[in-house]
Amino acid sequence: MRLLVVEDEHKTGNYLQQGLTEAGFQVSLARNGLDGHHLAMTEDFDLIVLDVMLPDVDGWRILQSLREAARQTPVLFLTARDSVEDRVKGLELGADDYLVKPFAFAELLARVRTLLRRGSVPVQSDQLSVADLMLDMPKRRATRDGKKIQLSQKEFALLELLVRREGEVLTRSLIASQVWDMNFDSDTNVIDVAIRRLRAKIDDGFEPKLIHTVRGMGYKLDAEANDE
Ligand code: CA
Repeated sequence: MRLLVVEDEHKTGNYLQQGLTEAGFQVSLARNGLDGHHLAMTEDFDLIVLDVMLPDVDGWRILQSLREAARQTPVLFLTARDSVEDRVKGLELGADDYLVKPFAFAELLARVRTLLRRGSVPVQSDQLSVADLMLDMPKRRATRDGKKIQLSQKEFALLELLVRREGEVLTRSLIASQVWDMNFDSDTNVIDVAIRRLRAKIDDGFEPKLIHTVRGMGYKLDAEANDE
């Protein structure tokens, strides 16, 4: 499996190259956006790990060029910017997943493996849907069975995460880091409360139930599952 890592920070670049090589991948490292852009557009990789903040050609440009050229290489982007908007932008430009810096290498490796297993599924649609739940991404609106559901910004972000990872069990700490930019190692109650509230809006009065508790692990969104 060939991976391209585009990362201008010397230490991070070396660390990623070394770690991924040790994990058995063939890794090309581009230390600036121009080289990254060139490699991404001319060579075939199974996956690209793309830093967004690059001094010359930034990660968004690279991602945009790739998708405009209909190159569907899965892209995992790295962002230091702790904002939901930033992540939404990346996903709307056609990235497949993201990690917020700083991240644990083990988490990056797990994401890389998941994406490679999944193959290149473009996430460019303006609409995400599971059963009769629809998310209108540009308008940040959700409907179920055609009925509009009022969600706060956080609730929408939480629902988006669950939908994008449909069928996967998401731990509370993963949800906390992806939606709240925080580590809730101690206070996972926040997540439980948010999920309960979201669940009431999404599932009360509708069938099938979409949001499920996986005991001892976390939550998942699945149209075909039952609560354990
Ligand atoms: Ca950077």
